[in-house]
Amino acid sequence: MQGLMQDWPLLVSTVIDHARVNHPEREVVTRTCEGPIHRCTYADLHGRAKRCAKALRRLGVREGDVVATLAWNTHRHMEIWYGIMGLGAVCHTLNPRLFLEQLSYIANHAEDKCLFLDLTFVKLAEAMQAHCPTIKGYVIMTDRAHMPETTLANAICYEELLSAEDESFDWVVVDERSAAGLCYTSGTTGNPKGVVYSHRSNVLHALAVNTADMLGLRSVDSVMPIVPMFHANAWATVFSAPMVGAKLVMPGAKLDGASVHELLEAEAVTCTAAVPTVWLGLLQFLESDKTKRLDTLERVVVGGAACPRVVMEKFEDNYGVLVMHGWGMTEMSPMGTASRLKHGMDKLPREQQLGWKLKQGRAPYTVEMKITDDAGKELPRDGKTFGHLLVRGAAIAKGYYKGEGGHGPDATILDENGFFDTGDVATLDAEGFMQITDRAKDVIKSGGEWISSIEIENIAVGHPSVAEAAVIGLPHPKWDERPLLIVVKKKGVEVSKDELLAYLTGKIAKWWMPDDVVFVQEIPHTATGKIQKRDLREQFVAYAWPAA
Ligand code: AMP
Repeated sequence: MQGLMQDWPLLVSTVIDHARVNHPEREVVTRTCEGPIHRCTYADLHGRAKRCAKALRRLGVREGDVVATLAWNTHRHMEIWYGIMGLGAVCHTLNPRLFLEQLSYIANHAEDKCLFLDLTFVKLAEAMQAHCPTIKGYVIMTDRAHMPETTLANAICYEELLSAEDESFDWVVVDERSAAGLCYTSGTTGNPKGVVYSHRSNVLHALAVNTADMLGLRSVDSVMPIVPMFHANAWATVFSAPMVGAKLVMPGAKLDGASVHELLEAEAVTCTAAVPTVWLGLLQFLESDKTKRLDTLERVVVGGAACPRVVMEKFEDNYGVLVMHGWGMTEMSPMGTASRLKHGMDKLPREQQLGWKLKQGRAPYTVEMKITDDAGKELPRDGKTFGHLLVRGAAIAKGYYKGEGGHGPDATILDENGFFDTGDVATLDAEGFMQITDRAKDVIKSGGEWISSIEIENIAVGHPSVAEAAVIGLPHPKWDERPLLIVVKKKGVEVSKDELLAYLTGKIAKWWMPDDVVFVQEIPHTATGKIQKRDLREQFVAYAWPAA
Protein backbone atom coordinates (compact mmCIF):
# COMPACT_ATOMS: atom_id res chain seq x y z
CA MET A 1 0.00 0.00 0.00
CA GLN A 2 1.29 3.45 -0.87
CA GLY A 3 1.12 6.29 1.61
CA LEU A 4 -1.34 9.00 0.72
CA MET A 5 0.68 12.02 1.72
CA GLN A 6 1.67 14.97 -0.42
CA ASP A 7 4.90 14.95 -2.38
CA TRP A 8 6.04 18.31 -1.12
CA PRO A 9 9.29 18.87 -2.98
CA LEU A 10 12.31 19.54 -0.79
CA LEU A 11 13.51 22.56 -2.76
CA VAL A 12 15.84 25.24 -1.46
CA SER A 13 13.35 27.89 -2.62
CA THR A 14 10.83 26.62 -0.04
CA VAL A 15 13.26 27.65 2.70
CA ILE A 16 13.41 31.32 1.74
CA ASP A 17 9.66 31.33 0.97
CA HIS A 18 9.07 30.06 4.50
CA ALA A 19 11.23 32.83 5.95
CA ARG A 20 9.40 35.50 3.94
CA VAL A 21 5.97 34.34 5.10
CA ASN A 22 6.80 33.55 8.71
CA HIS A 23 9.75 35.78 9.57
CA PRO A 24 9.57 38.69 7.12
CA GLU A 25 10.99 41.28 9.52
CA ARG A 26 13.87 39.16 10.87
CA GLU A 27 17.16 40.74 9.96
CA VAL A 28 20.16 39.76 7.89
CA VAL A 29 23.03 42.03 8.93
CA THR A 30 26.25 42.25 6.90
CA ARG A 31 29.64 43.83 7.29
CA THR A 32 29.93 44.77 3.63
CA CYS A 33 33.09 44.60 1.57
CA GLU A 34 32.68 48.36 1.01
CA GLY A 35 32.90 48.84 4.78
CA PRO A 36 29.58 49.88 6.36
CA ILE A 37 27.14 47.58 8.12
CA HIS A 38 24.13 46.75 5.93
CA ARG A 39 20.77 45.66 7.30
CA CYS A 40 17.92 43.98 5.46
CA THR A 41 15.13 41.54 6.30
CA TYR A 42 14.24 38.08 5.06
CA ALA A 43 11.39 39.74 3.10
CA ASP A 44 13.93 42.04 1.39
CA LEU A 45 16.34 39.20 0.75
CA HIS A 46 13.56 37.05 -0.72
CA GLY A 47 12.61 39.85 -3.12
CA ARG A 48 16.19 40.44 -4.17
CA ALA A 49 16.77 36.71 -4.71
CA LYS A 50 13.80 36.74 -7.11
CA ARG A 51 15.21 39.75 -8.94
CA CYS A 52 18.54 37.95 -9.15
CA ALA A 53 16.91 34.83 -10.63
CA LYS A 54 15.07 36.99 -13.15
CA ALA A 55 18.28 38.81 -14.08
CA LEU A 56 20.13 35.53 -14.53
CA ARG A 57 17.43 34.29 -16.84
CA ARG A 58 17.70 37.50 -18.86
CA LEU A 59 21.46 36.93 -19.05
CA GLY A 60 20.74 33.53 -20.60
CA VAL A 61 21.29 31.23 -17.62
CA ARG A 62 19.08 28.17 -17.81
CA GLU A 63 18.11 25.25 -15.59
CA GLY A 64 21.17 23.08 -14.91
CA ASP A 65 23.70 25.78 -15.87
CA VAL A 66 26.54 26.34 -13.44
CA VAL A 67 26.96 29.85 -12.02
CA ALA A 68 30.00 30.55 -9.88
CA THR A 69 30.55 32.86 -6.91
CA LEU A 70 33.80 34.18 -5.48
CA ALA A 71 32.52 35.89 -2.38
CA TRP A 72 32.50 36.36 1.39
CA ASN A 73 29.56 35.75 3.70
CA THR A 74 27.25 38.67 2.91
CA HIS A 75 23.55 39.24 2.26
CA ARG A 76 24.35 39.62 -1.42
CA HIS A 77 26.10 36.27 -1.59
CA MET A 78 23.11 34.70 0.15
CA GLU A 79 20.48 36.18 -2.15
CA ILE A 80 22.59 35.13 -5.16
CA TRP A 81 22.60 31.55 -3.81
CA TYR A 82 18.83 31.56 -3.54
CA GLY A 83 18.51 33.26 -6.93
CA ILE A 84 20.67 30.71 -8.71
CA MET A 85 19.12 27.69 -7.00
CA GLY A 86 15.59 29.12 -7.36
CA LEU A 87 16.16 29.30 -11.10
CA GLY A 88 17.06 25.61 -11.14
CA ALA A 89 20.68 26.47 -11.91
CA VAL A 90 23.66 25.23 -9.89
CA CYS A 91 25.54 27.50 -7.52
CA HIS A 92 29.27 26.84 -7.63
CA THR A 93 31.19 28.36 -4.74
CA LEU A 94 34.83 29.03 -5.60
CA ASN A 95 37.34 29.20 -2.78
CA PRO A 96 39.39 32.39 -3.21
CA ARG A 97 42.17 30.94 -1.08
CA LEU A 98 43.09 28.48 -3.83
CA PHE A 99 45.95 29.12 -6.23
CA LEU A 100 45.13 30.59 -9.63
CA GLU A 101 45.86 27.32 -11.45
CA GLN A 102 43.54 25.36 -9.16
CA LEU A 103 40.78 27.96 -9.44
CA SER A 104 41.03 27.97 -13.23
CA TYR A 105 41.07 24.19 -13.35
CA ILE A 106 37.94 24.08 -11.18
CA ALA A 107 36.06 26.79 -13.12
CA ASN A 108 36.83 25.00 -16.39
CA HIS A 109 35.95 21.57 -15.04
CA ALA A 110 32.63 22.91 -13.75
CA GLU A 111 32.07 24.85 -17.00
CA ASP A 112 31.02 27.93 -15.07
CA LYS A 113 28.81 30.18 -17.24
CA CYS A 114 29.21 33.37 -15.28
CA LEU A 115 30.90 34.56 -12.12
CA PHE A 116 29.61 36.76 -9.29
CA LEU A 117 32.48 38.29 -7.36
CA ASP A 118 33.14 40.56 -4.43
CA LEU A 119 35.21 43.72 -4.83
CA THR A 120 38.01 41.97 -2.93
CA PHE A 121 38.42 39.45 -5.73
CA VAL A 122 38.49 41.66 -8.83
CA LYS A 123 42.24 41.18 -9.34
CA LEU A 124 41.89 37.42 -8.86
CA ALA A 125 39.05 37.19 -11.38
CA GLU A 126 41.05 39.30 -13.83
CA ALA A 127 43.90 36.81 -13.54
CA MET A 128 41.48 33.90 -14.06
CA GLN A 129 39.81 35.48 -17.08
CA ALA A 130 42.33 34.44 -19.74
CA HIS A 131 42.26 30.82 -18.50
CA CYS A 132 38.48 30.43 -18.12
CA PRO A 133 36.82 30.59 -21.53
CA THR A 134 33.47 29.19 -20.35
CA ILE A 135 32.83 32.23 -18.14
CA LYS A 136 30.93 34.61 -20.35
CA GLY A 137 30.00 37.26 -17.84
CA TYR A 138 31.26 38.83 -14.62
CA VAL A 139 28.99 40.45 -12.06
CA ILE A 140 30.74 42.60 -9.46
CA MET A 141 28.79 42.49 -6.21
CA THR A 142 28.63 46.21 -5.45
CA ASP A 143 26.81 49.41 -6.39
CA ARG A 144 27.64 51.91 -9.12
CA ALA A 145 29.53 54.22 -6.76
CA HIS A 146 31.99 51.44 -5.88
CA MET A 147 32.44 49.88 -9.32
CA PRO A 148 36.20 49.51 -9.87
CA GLU A 149 38.27 50.00 -12.99
CA THR A 150 38.60 46.49 -14.37
CA THR A 151 39.76 44.51 -17.36
CA LEU A 152 36.96 41.98 -16.82
CA ALA A 153 35.03 41.71 -20.06
CA ASN A 154 31.52 43.20 -19.86
CA ALA A 155 31.67 43.54 -16.09
CA ILE A 156 28.18 44.17 -14.72
CA CYS A 157 27.36 46.12 -11.57
CA TYR A 158 25.28 43.85 -9.33
CA GLU A 159 23.02 46.53 -7.87
CA GLU A 160 22.26 47.85 -11.35
CA LEU A 161 21.52 44.34 -12.55
CA LEU A 162 19.02 43.88 -9.73
CA SER A 163 17.38 47.27 -10.02
CA ALA A 164 16.50 46.55 -13.65
CA GLU A 165 14.24 43.67 -12.53
CA ASP A 166 11.11 43.31 -10.43
CA GLU A 167 10.20 40.54 -8.00
CA SER A 168 7.63 38.80 -10.18
CA PHE A 169 9.43 35.55 -10.69
CA ASP A 170 8.09 32.05 -10.05
CA TRP A 171 10.75 29.76 -8.65
CA VAL A 172 11.46 26.94 -11.07
CA VAL A 173 10.09 23.68 -9.69
CA VAL A 174 12.81 21.15 -10.45
CA ASP A 175 13.07 17.56 -9.28
CA GLU A 176 14.25 17.72 -5.66
CA ARG A 177 17.12 15.39 -6.60
CA SER A 178 18.52 17.81 -9.14
CA ALA A 179 21.72 19.69 -8.49
CA ALA A 180 21.57 22.90 -6.45
CA GLY A 181 25.18 23.44 -5.39
CA LEU A 182 28.69 22.50 -6.40
CA CYS A 183 31.78 22.70 -4.21
CA TYR A 184 35.21 21.29 -5.00
CA THR A 185 37.19 19.52 -2.37
CA SER A 186 40.93 20.00 -2.52
CA GLY A 187 42.09 16.43 -2.58
CA THR A 188 45.64 15.92 -1.42
CA THR A 189 46.26 13.69 -4.41
CA GLY A 190 45.12 14.41 -7.92
CA ASN A 191 42.89 17.24 -9.01
CA PRO A 192 40.13 18.81 -6.91
CA LYS A 193 36.84 16.92 -7.13
CA GLY A 194 33.36 18.41 -7.35
CA VAL A 195 30.74 17.54 -4.73
CA VAL A 196 27.27 18.10 -6.17
CA TYR A 197 24.61 18.90 -3.57
CA SER A 198 20.96 18.40 -4.47
CA HIS A 199 18.00 20.47 -3.29
CA ARG A 200 16.86 17.48 -1.29
CA SER A 201 20.24 16.93 0.39
CA ASN A 202 20.54 20.63 1.26
CA VAL A 203 17.09 20.71 2.86
CA LEU A 204 17.50 17.43 4.75
CA HIS A 205 20.95 18.45 5.93
CA ALA A 206 19.69 21.84 7.17
CA LEU A 207 16.87 20.06 9.05
CA ALA A 208 19.40 17.71 10.65
CA VAL A 209 21.67 20.63 11.59
CA ASN A 210 18.69 22.29 13.24
CA THR A 211 18.00 19.38 15.58
CA ALA A 212 18.50 20.37 19.19
CA ASP A 213 21.74 18.45 19.82
CA MET A 214 23.32 19.93 16.69
CA LEU A 215 23.18 23.71 16.10
CA GLY A 216 19.52 23.63 17.13
CA LEU A 217 18.76 27.12 15.79
CA ARG A 218 15.54 28.88 16.82
CA SER A 219 13.73 32.05 15.82
CA VAL A 220 15.12 33.78 18.92
CA ASP A 221 18.72 33.09 17.86
CA SER A 222 21.10 35.49 16.22
CA VAL A 223 23.60 33.38 14.32
CA MET A 224 26.92 34.42 12.83
CA PRO A 225 28.47 31.96 10.37
CA ILE A 226 32.15 32.83 10.22
CA VAL A 227 32.85 29.60 8.40
CA PRO A 228 32.70 30.71 4.78
CA MET A 229 29.92 30.05 2.30
CA PHE A 230 32.69 29.22 -0.19
CA HIS A 231 33.77 26.23 1.84
CA ALA A 232 31.18 23.57 2.55
CA ASN A 233 28.04 25.70 2.66
CA ALA A 234 28.90 27.71 5.77
CA TRP A 235 27.88 24.58 7.67
CA ALA A 236 24.30 24.90 6.39
CA THR A 237 23.58 28.10 8.33
CA VAL A 238 22.43 29.92 5.19
CA PHE A 239 19.64 27.34 4.96
CA SER A 240 19.07 26.48 8.61
CA ALA A 241 18.75 30.10 9.84
CA PRO A 242 15.95 31.19 7.44
CA MET A 243 14.31 27.80 8.01
CA VAL A 244 13.59 28.87 11.61
CA GLY A 245 13.72 32.65 11.29
CA ALA A 246 16.98 33.13 13.19
CA LYS A 247 18.68 36.48 12.62
CA LEU A 248 21.78 36.13 10.43
CA VAL A 249 24.93 38.14 10.95
CA MET A 250 27.32 38.00 8.02
CA PRO A 251 30.89 39.02 8.85
CA GLY A 252 32.09 39.73 5.29
CA ALA A 253 35.86 39.79 4.85
CA LYS A 254 36.97 40.84 8.34
CA LEU A 255 37.57 37.76 10.46
CA ASP A 256 40.15 39.04 12.95
CA GLY A 257 39.45 38.90 16.70
CA ALA A 258 38.50 42.57 17.08
CA SER A 259 36.08 42.60 14.11
CA VAL A 260 34.47 39.33 15.12
CA HIS A 261 34.04 40.55 18.69
CA GLU A 262 32.50 43.82 17.58
CA LEU A 263 29.80 42.05 15.58
CA LEU A 264 29.16 39.42 18.25
CA GLU A 265 28.36 42.17 20.74
CA ALA A 266 26.69 44.73 18.46
CA GLU A 267 24.33 42.21 16.89
CA ALA A 268 23.61 40.23 20.07
CA VAL A 269 24.85 37.00 18.50
CA THR A 270 23.79 33.85 20.39
CA CYS A 271 25.38 31.17 18.17
CA THR A 272 28.43 31.28 15.95
CA ALA A 273 30.56 28.80 14.01
CA ALA A 274 34.16 28.75 12.78
CA VAL A 275 37.42 26.82 12.60
CA PRO A 276 39.74 26.78 15.65
CA THR A 277 42.16 29.42 14.27
CA VAL A 278 39.38 32.02 14.25
CA TRP A 279 38.58 31.21 17.88
CA LEU A 280 42.22 31.34 18.92
CA GLY A 281 42.30 34.83 17.34
CA LEU A 282 39.18 35.94 19.19
CA LEU A 283 40.39 34.55 22.52
CA GLN A 284 43.75 36.29 22.13
CA PHE A 285 41.93 39.53 21.42
CA LEU A 286 39.72 39.10 24.51
CA GLU A 287 42.73 38.36 26.68
CA SER A 288 44.51 41.49 25.49
CA ASP A 289 41.73 43.59 27.01
CA LYS A 290 40.17 42.15 30.14
CA THR A 291 37.24 44.59 29.99
CA LYS A 292 35.92 42.85 26.87
CA ARG A 293 33.14 40.35 27.41
CA LEU A 294 30.81 38.09 25.50
CA ASP A 295 27.44 39.27 26.75
CA THR A 296 24.95 37.49 24.50
CA LEU A 297 26.88 34.57 23.05
CA GLU A 298 25.49 31.21 24.20
CA ARG A 299 27.17 28.64 21.99
CA VAL A 300 30.17 28.37 19.74
CA VAL A 301 30.58 25.65 17.15
CA VAL A 302 34.18 24.60 16.50
CA GLY A 303 35.01 22.34 13.59
CA GLY A 304 36.96 21.88 10.38
CA ALA A 305 39.94 20.86 12.52
CA ALA A 306 40.06 19.40 16.01
CA CYS A 307 39.03 21.76 18.80
CA PRO A 308 42.03 22.40 21.09
CA ARG A 309 41.26 21.87 24.75
CA VAL A 310 42.35 25.42 25.54
CA VAL A 311 39.64 26.83 23.24
CA MET A 312 36.92 24.83 24.97
CA GLU A 313 38.15 25.65 28.46
CA LYS A 314 38.57 29.37 27.89
CA PHE A 315 35.15 29.86 26.27
CA GLU A 316 33.34 27.78 28.85
CA ASP A 317 35.23 28.64 32.04
CA ASN A 318 36.15 32.28 31.42
CA TYR A 319 33.18 33.47 29.37
CA GLY A 320 30.36 31.01 30.17
CA VAL A 321 29.84 30.12 26.51
CA LEU A 322 29.01 26.52 25.59
CA VAL A 323 31.40 24.98 23.06
CA MET A 324 30.16 22.38 20.60
CA HIS A 325 32.84 20.46 18.80
CA GLY A 326 31.72 19.44 15.32
CA TRP A 327 33.17 17.35 12.56
CA GLY A 328 32.30 17.00 8.92
CA MET A 329 33.57 17.34 5.40
CA THR A 330 32.63 18.83 2.04
CA GLU A 331 31.29 15.43 0.93
CA MET A 332 28.90 15.44 3.92
CA SER A 333 27.27 18.84 3.19
CA PRO A 334 29.27 19.16 5.59
CA MET A 335 28.15 18.43 9.16
CA GLY A 336 28.59 14.86 10.40
CA THR A 337 28.70 15.14 14.19
CA ALA A 338 28.45 17.49 17.17
CA SER A 339 29.64 16.83 20.70
CA ARG A 340 26.66 17.57 22.95
CA LEU A 341 26.55 15.79 26.29
CA LYS A 342 23.92 13.07 26.61
CA HIS A 343 21.45 12.39 29.38
CA GLY A 344 23.27 11.96 32.70
CA MET A 345 26.60 13.32 31.44
CA ASP A 346 25.72 16.77 32.80
CA LYS A 347 26.15 15.30 36.30
CA LEU A 348 29.70 14.07 35.63
CA PRO A 349 32.78 15.82 37.05
CA ARG A 350 34.08 18.56 34.74
CA GLU A 351 37.14 16.59 33.64
CA GLN A 352 35.02 13.65 32.48
CA GLN A 353 32.62 15.97 30.69
CA LEU A 354 35.54 17.53 28.85
CA GLY A 355 36.60 14.04 27.82
CA TRP A 356 33.28 13.62 26.01
CA LYS A 357 33.00 17.14 24.70
CA LEU A 358 36.46 17.13 23.16
CA LYS A 359 35.55 14.14 21.03
CA GLN A 360 34.23 15.10 17.60
CA GLY A 361 30.77 14.06 18.73
CA ARG A 362 27.65 12.15 17.81
CA ALA A 363 25.87 11.81 14.49
CA PRO A 364 22.46 13.38 14.04
CA TYR A 365 19.63 11.40 12.46
CA THR A 366 20.49 11.16 8.70
CA VAL A 367 24.14 10.21 9.33
CA GLU A 368 25.38 6.64 9.93
CA MET A 369 28.98 5.95 10.92
CA LYS A 370 31.14 2.85 11.32
CA ILE A 371 34.84 2.07 11.59
CA THR A 372 36.60 -0.73 9.73
CA ASP A 373 40.03 -2.31 9.46
CA ASP A 374 42.10 -2.28 6.26
CA ALA A 375 40.16 -5.28 4.96
CA GLY A 376 36.83 -3.54 5.46
CA LYS A 377 35.79 -5.57 8.53
CA GLU A 378 33.73 -3.55 10.99
CA LEU A 379 35.56 -2.80 14.26
CA PRO A 380 34.04 -2.61 17.75
CA ARG A 381 32.50 0.58 19.12
CA ASP A 382 34.58 0.50 22.28
CA GLY A 383 36.13 3.98 22.21
CA LYS A 384 39.59 2.40 21.97
CA THR A 385 39.94 0.54 18.68
CA PHE A 386 40.58 2.86 15.80
CA GLY A 387 39.94 2.31 12.15
CA HIS A 388 38.82 3.89 8.89
CA LEU A 389 35.74 6.05 9.41
CA LEU A 390 32.98 5.26 6.91
CA VAL A 391 29.70 7.17 6.56
CA ARG A 392 26.31 6.78 4.87
CA GLY A 393 23.39 9.16 4.92
CA ALA A 394 20.88 11.55 3.40
CA ALA A 395 23.31 14.35 2.54
CA ILE A 396 26.52 12.48 1.73
CA ALA A 397 28.11 12.33 -1.72
CA LYS A 398 27.83 9.11 -3.74
CA GLY A 399 30.10 10.30 -6.55
CA TYR A 400 32.05 13.31 -7.75
CA TYR A 401 31.14 15.61 -10.63
CA LYS A 402 31.81 13.98 -14.00
CA GLY A 403 32.69 10.72 -12.32
CA GLU A 404 36.14 11.80 -11.06
CA GLY A 405 37.72 9.32 -8.69
CA GLY A 406 34.84 6.85 -8.90
CA HIS A 407 34.69 3.20 -9.89
CA GLY A 408 32.32 0.99 -11.84
CA PRO A 409 29.77 1.96 -14.48
CA ASP A 410 28.13 4.63 -12.29
CA ALA A 411 31.50 6.00 -11.05
CA THR A 412 30.47 5.48 -7.45
CA ILE A 413 32.74 6.41 -4.56
CA LEU A 414 30.86 4.10 -2.20
CA ASP A 415 31.63 0.55 -1.10
CA GLU A 416 29.26 -2.35 -1.75
CA ASN A 417 27.19 -1.37 1.31
CA GLY A 418 26.80 2.23 0.23
CA PHE A 419 29.38 3.63 2.68
CA PHE A 420 31.84 6.41 1.85
CA ASP A 421 35.37 6.27 3.27
CA THR A 422 36.01 9.68 4.84
CA GLY A 423 39.80 9.26 4.80
CA ASP A 424 39.76 9.87 8.55
CA VAL A 425 40.86 7.39 11.19
CA ALA A 426 38.67 7.39 14.30
CA THR A 427 37.27 5.57 17.31
CA LEU A 428 33.57 5.11 18.00
CA ASP A 429 32.14 4.32 21.41
CA ALA A 430 29.01 2.72 22.78
CA GLU A 431 27.44 6.15 23.39
CA GLY A 432 27.82 6.97 19.69
CA PHE A 433 30.66 9.48 20.17
CA MET A 434 33.29 9.51 17.47
CA GLN A 435 36.84 10.72 17.99
CA ILE A 436 39.17 11.47 15.12
CA THR A 437 42.67 10.07 15.53
CA ASP A 438 44.03 11.55 12.32
CA ARG A 439 43.68 11.74 8.60
CA ALA A 440 44.60 8.22 7.43
CA LYS A 441 47.67 9.59 5.66
CA ASP A 442 48.82 11.66 8.65
CA VAL A 443 48.59 9.02 11.36
CA ILE A 444 52.04 8.21 12.78
CA LYS A 445 52.92 4.53 12.76
CA SER A 446 55.41 3.82 15.49
CA GLY A 447 56.49 0.30 16.46
CA GLY A 448 53.33 -1.19 14.94
CA GLU A 449 51.05 1.17 16.93
CA TRP A 450 49.39 4.41 15.84
CA ILE A 451 50.03 7.81 17.35
CA SER A 452 47.46 10.58 16.90
CA SER A 453 49.20 13.74 15.66
CA ILE A 454 46.03 15.74 16.32
CA GLU A 455 45.96 14.91 20.00
CA ILE A 456 49.54 16.02 20.58
CA GLU A 457 48.99 19.23 18.59
CA ASN A 458 45.94 20.12 20.61
CA ILE A 459 47.73 19.75 23.89
CA ALA A 460 50.77 21.65 22.62
CA VAL A 461 48.70 24.73 21.62
CA GLY A 462 47.50 24.86 25.21
CA HIS A 463 51.00 26.01 26.25
CA PRO A 464 50.89 29.78 26.79
CA SER A 465 53.88 30.43 24.50
CA VAL A 466 52.64 28.38 21.55
CA ALA A 467 50.76 30.09 18.71
CA GLU A 468 50.44 27.01 16.51
CA ALA A 469 51.68 23.44 16.57
CA ALA A 470 51.90 20.59 14.08
CA VAL A 471 53.04 17.03 14.58
CA ILE A 472 54.28 14.88 11.71
CA GLY A 473 55.67 11.38 11.55
CA LEU A 474 59.17 11.07 10.12
CA PRO A 475 61.06 7.88 9.30
CA HIS A 476 62.96 6.34 12.20
CA PRO A 477 65.53 3.50 11.96
CA LYS A 478 64.08 1.54 14.87
CA TRP A 479 60.42 2.52 15.21
CA ASP A 480 59.38 2.95 11.59
CA GLU A 481 58.16 6.50 12.32
CA ARG A 482 58.43 8.88 15.26
CA PRO A 483 56.61 12.15 15.95
CA LEU A 484 58.29 15.52 15.41
CA LEU A 485 56.65 18.53 17.06
CA ILE A 486 56.82 21.72 14.97
CA VAL A 487 55.98 24.93 16.79
CA VAL A 488 55.32 28.56 15.97
CA LYS A 489 55.94 30.66 19.11
CA LYS A 490 53.66 33.52 20.07
CA LYS A 491 55.20 36.91 19.31
CA GLY A 492 57.70 38.17 21.85
CA VAL A 493 57.88 35.05 24.01
CA GLU A 494 60.50 32.37 24.43
CA VAL A 495 60.02 28.70 25.12
CA SER A 496 62.46 25.79 24.90
CA LYS A 497 62.19 22.25 23.63
CA ASP A 498 62.56 20.89 27.17
CA GLU A 499 59.83 23.16 28.52
CA LEU A 500 57.44 21.95 25.84
CA LEU A 501 58.25 18.29 26.38
CA ALA A 502 57.80 18.79 30.13
CA TYR A 503 54.41 20.38 29.40
CA LEU A 504 53.33 17.32 27.41
CA THR A 505 54.55 14.90 30.09
CA GLY A 506 51.66 13.20 31.85
CA LYS A 507 49.18 14.46 29.24
CA ILE A 508 50.04 11.86 26.59
CA ALA A 509 51.32 8.29 26.68
CA LYS A 510 55.11 8.12 27.16
CA TRP A 511 55.70 6.47 23.81
CA TRP A 512 53.74 9.28 22.08
CA MET A 513 56.28 11.85 23.29
CA PRO A 514 57.78 13.68 20.27
CA ASP A 515 61.42 12.76 19.73
CA ASP A 516 62.25 16.36 18.95
CA VAL A 517 60.79 19.86 18.81
CA VAL A 518 61.64 22.38 16.10
CA PHE A 519 60.65 26.04 15.99
CA VAL A 520 59.54 27.65 12.73
CA GLN A 521 58.26 31.09 11.69
CA GLU A 522 55.22 29.68 9.95
CA ILE A 523 53.28 26.46 9.41
CA PRO A 524 51.84 25.97 5.89
CA HIS A 525 48.05 25.78 5.48
CA THR A 526 45.69 24.50 2.83
CA ALA A 527 43.12 26.73 1.16
CA THR A 528 40.60 25.53 3.70
CA GLY A 529 42.81 26.53 6.61
CA LYS A 530 44.06 23.09 7.57
CA ILE A 531 47.70 22.36 8.37
CA GLN A 532 49.42 21.25 5.17
CA LYS A 533 51.14 18.12 6.50
CA ARG A 534 52.32 16.97 3.10
CA ASP A 535 54.32 20.20 2.67
CA LEU A 536 55.68 19.89 6.19
CA ARG A 537 56.85 16.32 5.54
CA GLU A 538 58.59 17.57 2.38
CA GLN A 539 60.12 20.47 4.28
CA PHE A 540 61.60 18.07 6.84
CA VAL A 541 62.58 15.32 4.42
CA ALA A 542 66.29 15.75 5.17
CA TYR A 543 65.74 16.06 8.91
CA ALA A 544 67.87 13.84 11.19
CA TRP A 545 66.75 12.82 14.70
CA PRO A 546 69.01 14.14 17.46
CA ALA A 547 69.85 10.71 18.85
CA ALA A 548 70.29 9.04 15.46
P1 AMP B 1 36.93 19.58 4.18
O1 AMP B 1 36.15 18.69 3.33
O2 AMP B 1 37.91 20.41 3.46
O3 AMP B 1 36.03 20.39 5.05
O4 AMP B 1 37.80 18.69 5.17
C1 AMP B 1 37.23 17.67 5.92
C2 AMP B 1 38.24 17.08 6.84
O5 AMP B 1 38.61 18.01 7.86
C3 AMP B 1 37.75 15.89 7.60
O6 AMP B 1 37.75 14.72 6.83
C4 AMP B 1 38.70 15.85 8.78
O7 AMP B 1 39.92 15.25 8.43
C5 AMP B 1 38.94 17.31 9.04
N1 AMP B 1 38.09 17.76 10.14
C6 AMP B 1 36.92 18.41 10.07
N2 AMP B 1 36.44 18.66 11.30
C7 AMP B 1 37.31 18.13 12.19
C8 AMP B 1 37.38 18.05 13.60
N3 AMP B 1 36.44 18.59 14.39
N4 AMP B 1 38.43 17.40 14.14
C9 AMP B 1 39.40 16.87 13.37
N5 AMP B 1 39.39 16.93 12.04
C10 AMP B 1 38.37 17.56 11.44
